[in-house]
Amino acid sequence: MRDNRAHTSIVNVSADEKSAFIEMAIHGGPDDASKSSATPAVQKWNHDVTIALKGDPNGEDLLRVHENAAVLSKLMAPLTVAVTDKPSTADIVVHFVDRNRFATLLGTHKYPPDADGVAQPRVGDDTEHGGEIRSVIVVVDKNLAQFARNRVTTHELLHAIGLDHSTCASSIMYADGTDNPSPLWSPSLLDRRVLSLLYRSEIRPGATLAAVDKILIPSLPTGAQCAKQLWQLVIDNTDNKSYLCEASSEQYRPCTGNLTSEPQYPLIDPDLWFDGTYVYYEFPLRR
Ligand SMILES: [Zn+2]
Repeated sequence: MRDNRAHTSIVNVSADEKSAFIEMAIHGGPDDASKSSATPAVQKWNHDVTIALKGDPNGEDLLRVHENAAVLSKLMAPLTVAVTDKPSTADIVVHFVDRNRFATLLGTHKYPPDADGVAQPRVGDDTEHGGEIRSVIVVVDKNLAQFARNRVTTHELLHAIGLDHSTCASSIMYADGTDNPSPLWSPSLLDRRVLSLLYRSEIRPGATLAAVDKILIPSLPTGAQCAKQLWQLVIDNTDNKSYLCEASSEQYRPCTGNLTSEPQYPLIDPDLWFDGTYVYYEFPLRR
């Protein structure tokens, strides 16, 4: 006899992964300024995504956008994310501009006045296409230091793909304006896990909290977690130079003034990263 049990779409996750998903992927909660959906719900793309750059991006900015597109293509498979040179038809347009151009490009003043970047998605709100992201305008302050711009670019692109803020300090989606966020510019493992869950076919655009609750089953004993923050940005107040330092309680902590590449943990060869600078606890930098 045929098995006629209804097919149930469930995805096994850990309890931490489920709470991170609810925090970052269900929009319209009390903390959400966009309020684009009355009922808290998932927002995602339902087709391949193209990104174009406008304004004055430099070579580094272009590289970062390409890197993000490659990471996102993996996490959103079978959807792909590609960089295009045709802003007029691109799904996401990233403008590297002076912040005094933000309001004009976004067509609104409704964003935090000190924002380094803003992502403004247009999301379907009818019953047929509710929760489908249609297009996104991103603005990034071109006058930020490169390492800061790298972080803002990734952060805004992840907004553009459907993620909201995280309360986890090592997340790239840790809310803007908060003290001492992680200085890294790649999504954390937990960020990546939440994105790959968001793009599972079981999770529909417009899925409500109640629907997600039935799909994500916290049955895995372990999974991606909010990792401890391993790196810290330290600013030398004698010359305002920025250093990337190991975040630890050691008295002497190695740092580097070279902020062009992101340290991976564990450091495969710390000497290649360390440039001879130390920061020491409650004392100034030593070079
Ligand atoms: Zn943000």
